[in-house]
Amino acid sequence: MVVLPFMISMWLSNEFGFFFLFVSGLILISCQGSIKTEIPVIALPEEKQAVSFIFEDEFSVDEKQKLEDWITYTSDCAQRTLGEFPFDLYYHFHREDSSDRAVVFGHTARVDSINAAHFYIDPTYSLEDLKADWIAPHEISHLAIPKLGKSSMWFFEGFATYLSREVMIEMEVFTRQEVDSINQSRIVAVKDKFTSSSKLTFVADSLITNHHHYPAVYWIGASYFHTADKLLDAQNKMKLIDILKEFQVCCHEPAMSVLQVVEAFDQIGNTKIFGELYTEYTEVPVYSLLTEYE
Ligand SMILES: [Zn+2]
Repeated sequence: MVVLPFMISMWLSNEFGFFFLFVSGLILISCQGSIKTEIPVIALPEEKQAVSFIFEDEFSVDEKQKLEDWITYTSDCAQRTLGEFPFDLYYHFHREDSSDRAVVFGHTARVDSINAAHFYIDPTYSLEDLKADWIAPHEISHLAIPKLGKSSMWFFEGFATYLSREVMIEMEVFTRQEVDSINQSRIVAVKDKFTSSSKLTFVADSLITNHHHYPAVYWIGASYFHTADKLLDAQNKMKLIDILKEFQVCCHEPAMSVLQVVEAFDQIGNTKIFGELYTEYTEVPVYSLLTEYE
């Protein structure tokens, strides 16, 4: 007897998004050629991700529309690049008048099942000015992996720093060549902060706590992901952004350790690059980490 799986899928579109009806069963064909069908299993419709906009200060109707358009575009580009996050999203807007830039500050806020990002903006700037800023792509990129402990700051800030520029290619703010050049020059520019024989976790903590030197920590972290992507390319493996798309589907859980994230990346990409590079970044003296960046 052979068992042939069959599926009937049907997509129904409505104003609330897609409704996915999935019917599966088994056709059993015996040696005598008779066919019998098992009772189909009907799965519940998949829930579409909900996105909420929360205005923490007074904004005009036009300003609200501009901010929603900006973050909808940024969030869509981020999830086209990094995969659709397996949770609803909450975007908060705070008013910062008379600023010298469109986006002044941003941060994520992740508690239990709530995944939020806050943006402090001067809404008198144009939609194009808002889109050209790196802060929103950076904060939304943070959401592509779980919240990690403070000792992993170099890892999660490096992740958002590196992936935000990939998102900005999708947003058509930068070209591929421009991002390659930004990555190279920004990493080279922080090299002189990493000349000691101490390990990265210690040096990163000292740079933040004693010197508030965030860019150095962000960009040495970015070098981990930049180097990983170069190694993946050299070995004809999946690119990091494609690994991330799979990560959202198979493996993204609210509470994971940095090692669990690294292991998931290696498993999805069928590689050891992330684990071996993580060991290097946490075990060797920092002066030896950026030798390839000149
Ligand atoms: Zn960040």
